[in-house]
Formats: sequence, structure tokens, C-alpha cells
Amino acid sequence: MSEINGNILIGATEERGQATFQGRNPATGESLPGAFAEAGVEHASAACALAAEAFPVFSTLSPADRAAFLESVAEHILGIGDALIIRAMEESGLPRARLEGERGRTVGQLRLFASVLRQGDWLEATIDPAMPDRAPLPRPDIRRVNQPVGPVVVFGASNFPLAFSVAGGDTASAFAAGCPVVVKGHPAHPGTGELVARAIQAAVAASGLPAGTFSYLPGTTQALGAALVADPRVKAVGFTGSRAGGLALVEIARNRPEPIPVYAEMSSINPVLLLPTAAAKRGADLGAAFIQSLTMGAGQFCTNPGLVVALEGADTEAFIAAAAQSLTSAPAQVMLSEGIWRNYCSGIDLLAGNERVTLVARGQAGEEANRGQAALFRTDADAFLADPTLSHEVFGSSSLVIVCRDVAEVKRVLAGLEGQLTSTLLMDPEDQALAGELLPLLTEKSGRVLANGWPTGVEVCHAMVHGGPFPATSDVRTTSVGTLAMVRFLRPVCYQNIPDALLPPALQAANPWGLTRRVNGTLTPA
Ligand code: NAP
Repeated sequence: MSEINGNILIGATEERGQATFQGRNPATGESLPGAFAEAGVEHASAACALAAEAFPVFSTLSPADRAAFLESVAEHILGIGDALIIRAMEESGLPRARLEGERGRTVGQLRLFASVLRQGDWLEATIDPAMPDRAPLPRPDIRRVNQPVGPVVVFGASNFPLAFSVAGGDTASAFAAGCPVVVKGHPAHPGTGELVARAIQAAVAASGLPAGTFSYLPGTTQALGAALVADPRVKAVGFTGSRAGGLALVEIARNRPEPIPVYAEMSSINPVLLLPTAAAKRGADLGAAFIQSLTMGAGQFCTNPGLVVALEGADTEAFIAAAAQSLTSAPAQVMLSEGIWRNYCSGIDLLAGNERVTLVARGQAGEEANRGQAALFRTDADAFLADPTLSHEVFGSSSLVIVCRDVAEVKRVLAGLEGQLTSTLLMDPEDQALAGELLPLLTEKSGRVLANGWPTGVEVCHAMVHGGPFPATSDVRTTSVGTLAMVRFLRPVCYQNIPDALLPPALQAANPWGLTRRVNGTLTPA
């Protein structure tokens, strides 16, 4: 199963396109072995047709059978063994420990969705029984259940080649909901993508599912992604990447004869608020810890702390000085691809060239290919509020400290921010009153607010929200991490006076799946 031949995987069949491309090792800048087929619009159409064919079977599996399939995907990914980690290291420049952790996260989230499927509450089976004697009008029998939306297209993300890619959170949640998936592979890790795609393909076969439950299309052309989003058989899209890419796909989806949702997770600078007592008591420690979070994984996290908001004074200066000192010794790190490294360098150049922004410190420079040299800048609130470019995401280890004159200025800065995935309060107990004042502003702007931690590190669990107002995501009501991600690919369907034998099992009188259901407004165990 650890074979990589660069083929396009459409269900159980393999195809080649007209052209090929190669993976690159960002650490060396050199091409990696293997010629990957460029999937074209005809392959997109074939994969979507097969997904639509698979939908009636895959969408009506029992929760237990779909859970077993997710667990089989997890087992097949583990079955690839070290070949997966080695290829992912070569293609991403990420270290072994990080990728092993990411593999654990990938199989862990597949298993978590399996456990949710077995519990059944995601179906939200709801029954309002008929009231034939109600006056003045009788009530019919009304029942509701969640059903999958249809085939889903997933764009793998570059920065998590396992946990946000081919079998990542978008794919796992779409499968859990009962949707066949067509993945547009990310061109930065085509071999890793293919290995995982083959594991899913094997799990589909081992589970006796229709082959169209999953297809994998490698490619580097925007025409491929555009064709997938435009395909009439596709009913929703999951995406993680740039704001420009996400918005382009949203636009294509909106202009279809039948518009569909694109759940795009795009850009966020994740403000960190340094409150006065925390700054006074542990400003220097926090400064050093901040740099650890900023430089982790070369800063290539959507939750990277790209903005610090603090009050002027000696304590904030101590925080900045400690951060500068730590940063100066931070080694240059290889970035995920040449394109991402170039974007990072131009973001840094833009900040460095802004006359109202001061460079605080840079990390060490690297001689080799695609090495990111971390950077910390500072400015004041007036400059930040006057220049929208200062709030643009610089993907990588770059952060801007805004030194505010007073709390009113802090509030103006927060009010001027775009939507965020996260906001962080660095606070001591004495800061609680101020934190309470700022909290409503932070929840208005972000999907997750945290105290005394760092935004990097997103737990996969039931309560997690990895989402937020635009441009953090294209749909503020959802999350792409955690079990709630599944609701993106479900829709409620209501059955009125439908004979019991024709109802889906979740709503039948005998309750064959043993679900807790809401009957007449009350949660009622099986
Ligand atoms: P990207 O350029 O947005 O690409 C992501 C995926 O979407 C790729 O498969 C790409 O395909 C496809 N795509 C992008 N624009 C498209 C369009 N107009 N039409 C059809 N398909 C399109 O993201 P990336 O390559 O991962 O990284 C580039 C930048 O994105 C980074 O420098 C960073 O700024 C940002 N980024 C942000 C996050 C985050 O979590 N916020 C994560 C990763 C990257 P092709 O490459 O084949 O066109």
C-alpha cells in the first residue's frame, strides 16, 4: 500500500492525465522522485459522477457501519507505517516528531467521529406525534432528522499535510455525516496525499462500500479546483488556505445555477492581549513564551499569534525586550513550500518598509532554501487603525505589537479588527475586571477566546470551535476542527404523516438504532 505511482484515483480506478508535475523538497529546493498526473476537468467530472452514484448507499449506512468505516480508514493510515512519515518529511520540511503527532491527530479524529456516530445525537431525531383530537385543528405527525447534503469536495491544506489534508478534519467530518468525498490534493505534498488516498481507497473496498465514496485528484491547476466546485453533483466544499483562494472558490460556488456552501478557513492574526498585572508580574516570562508560540512550526499555523495588544509602560517594554532576546536566537526554519516562503518574505518586506512600523528583532537568517527568518515589529494604535494592511495575515513567524496609550485605545484597536479564529487574554487575577470589560469585544470578533495559554495548538474535541467571523472563515456558524464540524455537511429533513415503514430508521416507532430522541420536546432515551 505504500506505493506511489502518481496516478489519479477515481473510485477504484487509476488514470493518468496529459501532463505531470513533481513534488519538491522545500528543505533543499530539489524535485522529489515521482511524476504526478495532472488531473483535469474530465477527471473532476468522472469523480463527481461516481460520488453521486455512491451517495444513496453511503448516506444510508447505519451509524455503526459508517463508524466502522472511519475506524478502518484510521487503521489503513497506520498500516502505511513509516513510509508516510518519511515522504511527508521530504515534502513539507516538517520534523518527524511533528508529523508523527499529526498522524496521531488524524487517526484520533477519525476515531472520535466514529464514537460520535455511535452515540447518534448528531441525527437530532425529533418527533412531534400527531394530535388528532387537538382543537381547533388536529396536528399531523411531524418528524425531523439530519441527513447528509451530498458529495463534498475537500481542498487539502498545505500546512497540515496529514491532519488537514486528504484524510483530515474536513474529510473525516464529511464521511461521518454520510457524504462521499472528492479530494483536490494539495500540490505541495502529492506523495503524502497519494499514500493517504490509497489507504482510504483500501478502507472503502474492505468495507464493501461503493467505489465512488472517495476519489483523489492530484493537480496544480486552478481549473481543476474550479471544475470541482462548479460540478452540479457537488453539494458542499471544505477548504483551508489563503483568503484569495477561499474567496475565489466562494465566488464560483455562489455563481452556480444551484449555489452551494463553501466552508473556507482562510486568514486570522489571532490577537493576544497583554493585561497590566500579567505584564507587571511576569512580562519577561510571557515575552519568551510568546516567541516559542510564534516560531513553532515556522509560524505556519492559522492560529499563529500575529498581533499583540498591550498598554504602554515599563512592563510592556520588559515583555518586548524579552521577546526580542528570545527571537534573536531563534533559528531559521524551513517553510512548507517556495510559494509560502515567498509570500512570507513579501509580508515581512511590507511591514519593514512601513514608516510607522519599527522592527524590534529578527531571528537568525538561513543560508539554505526556503528558510523563514522570524520577525517582530511594533507600532502604535493610531498607525494600526489608519492602515488596513497592518492587519493582514503574514503566514509564518511574524508578529506586530501594538502599544496603546490607554484602555480606550485597546478597545478601539479591538473594534477595528477583522474576524479572527482566536483571541487570547494574558491575565492575572487582578486583571479580571478589565478582562470582563474586553471579553464581549473579543467574543464578537473571534471563534475561540482563551486565557493564559497560546492560540497555537487546537484540541480536537466536542467543544472546540476553529472558526470565526470573516475573513477567519467564510461561514461564521461553523468550525473545521472538532466534532461540531460534521454539521456543515448535514441538513434537516422533516417527514409529515409519512407511514412508519417508509421513515428512515432514526424516526421509526421501533427506534431500531436505539437513539435518544426528542419526543414532544423532551429528550427521551431509547
Ligand atoms: P492556497 O493558495 O489558498 O491553495 C490551497 C488550495 O486551493 C490548493 O489546492 C490550490 O490549488 C487551491 N486554490 C487556490 N486558489 C484557487 C483558485 N482560485 N481556484 C481553484 N483552486 C484554488 O493556499 P496554500 O498554497 O496552502 O498557501 C498559500 C498561502 O495561503 C500561504 O502563504 C498563506 O498565506 C495562506 N494559508 C493560510 C492558512 C491558514 O490556515 N489560514 C493555511 C495555509 C495557507 P493550486 O495550488 O493547484 O492552485
